[in-house]
Amino acid sequence: MIEYLPSAISSLKAAKDIIIAIQELRDIDKIKTATSEVKERLIETIDSVLASKEQLLSFQTKISDLEKECNRLKDWSIEREQYSCKQIGDGVFAFINSDFKGNFQDARKLCCNCFDKTIKSTLQQSNEFKQGMGRITTLTCPNGCPKLEFTFYASN
Ligand SMILES: [Zn+2]
Repeated sequence: MIEYLPSAISSLKAAKDIIIAIQELRDIDKIKTATSEVKERLIETIDSVLASKEQLLSFQTKISDLEKECNRLKDWSIEREQYSCKQIGDGVFAFINSDFKGNFQDARKLCCNCFDKTIKSTLQQSNEFKQGMGRITTLTCPNGCPKLEFTFYASN
């Protein structure tokens, strides 16, 4: 973050040394050359400070994003305690509010894949007729996870 400091300090030190040397000069051409050198050193310093300012803003943005993510994960760890993984159909699992009483069909079901990635994704139910299987229930995650298909809900 402060990589610019050594070069900025050395440029300023060089500019100071040149200014001290200018005070001893009597030749106008040497004064002009030395003044030009001071100007270049100051421009280098300004450029490196400005470049580091952009880098600093970038770091501040990253820190802010990480703080938001940290808070989201803290909130998630509290919220995830309210859910349990349940077998809702034959070999089919979903996260359901631990306090839920009643038929799994009526419960808000959360996708296990998304839940493990700290995303709360509600599965949407549809019913289809499949050749050889008859009527099946399909649960679809809006995040594109594999569909869950089963014939009957398990009893809660
Ligand atoms: Zn999902």
